[in-house]
Amino acid sequence: MEENKLKNILITGGAGFIGSHLCKILVESGHNVICLDNLLTGSLSNIQNLKKYKNFEFVKHDIIEPYFRDDIDEIYNLACPASPVHYQYNPIKTIKTCTIGVINMLGLAKKNNAKILQASTSEIYGDPEIHPQREDYNGNVNTLGFRSCYDEGKRCAETLFMDYNREHNLNIKIVRIFNTYGPNMTKNDGRVVSNFILQALNNEIITIYGDGSQTRSFQYIDDLIEGLIKMMNSDNIGPINLGNPEELSMTDLSAMVIRLTNSSSKIVYKKLPQDDPKRRQPDINLAKSILDWRPTIDLETGLQKTINYFTHY
Ligand code: NAD
Ligand code: UDP
Repeated sequence: MEENKLKNILITGGAGFIGSHLCKILVESGHNVICLDNLLTGSLSNIQNLKKYKNFEFVKHDIIEPYFRDDIDEIYNLACPASPVHYQYNPIKTIKTCTIGVINMLGLAKKNNAKILQASTSEIYGDPEIHPQREDYNGNVNTLGFRSCYDEGKRCAETLFMDYNREHNLNIKIVRIFNTYGPNMTKNDGRVVSNFILQALNNEIITIYGDGSQTRSFQYIDDLIEGLIKMMNSDNIGPINLGNPEELSMTDLSAMVIRLTNSSSKIVYKKLPQDDPKRRQPDINLAKSILDWRPTIDLETGLQKTINYFTHY
């Protein structure tokens, strides 16, 4: 079986939250893993425990610059800041990563005749008018706002992937990842799960943006990693949603975090950021049918594991 063959696997953004988990599981499966990262938002501490493996290599590199190598079987293209605070910090750089960087990685895949998977996002649906979001929904994205550098960058990346597939017959995979959380999330990246947990653990004020009625559906990192690898090993090109359909409001999330941390934190309501999607929930019927994949870790269990991580951070 193809899954059992040992491969040379390049993971861009491998020192980040998702990338570090993917590096670990693929290294421990015996594959040769090359982690390519410019350390913009990732950290060497995330991959510190992998240095001991002979089949793990770290290369500091920015994918906006071409990267040459001729021994690659598979590429997971994860490089891109993911939290709104990070991707809006240098929006032009975010767009370059999603376009020039993606062209560089597609070119590398073409030269190596390698499979390449793109970490796309639920953000390509924007502030969705249909609910839950299915892969055939084209989205509702503002081209002009603060989130656009990421949303439109990721949309353009999907287009580039499809055109390389049509023009060069490249073996591509597009995965639309919904909000994911777990250990190795950066402390200060401003995402809601890390913010709420750290605020609750320190008995500080919990910041809800807007009135807290907006919803998200959070998936635990281990479920996502299993889905990414299944997708890479499948015959499908996607796009495919990977997420946990367990939807809840930010008010309910804050209450759950306060309960699980036994915190005395109080809530403060702050201004809702521009273009903040009101609802988000993946339709995962496609992933269920073509990958036989579904999330197995419920929110409470996953939050507890994440709280344990941040307690010892
Ligand atoms: P992260 O910020 O923790 O990781 C991104 C990694 O990419 C970092 O290590 C960063 O240093 C690296 N990077 C950024 N720009 C780079 C460049 N130009 N060249 C080389 N490396 C670069 O974010 P994450 O949550 O691990 O997200 C990983 C991928 O998954 C991203 O592409 C993101 O868009 C996608 N995604 C994540 C989520 C989520 O909920 N975490 C949801 C949807 C999509
Ligand atoms: N959010 C919040 N308080 C925070 C951080 C975020 O209420 O301290 C809200 C944010 O406005 C959004 C939701 O939580 O409605 C999820 O935000 P996150 O940045 O984690 O992900 P995204 O908006 O990209 O889905």
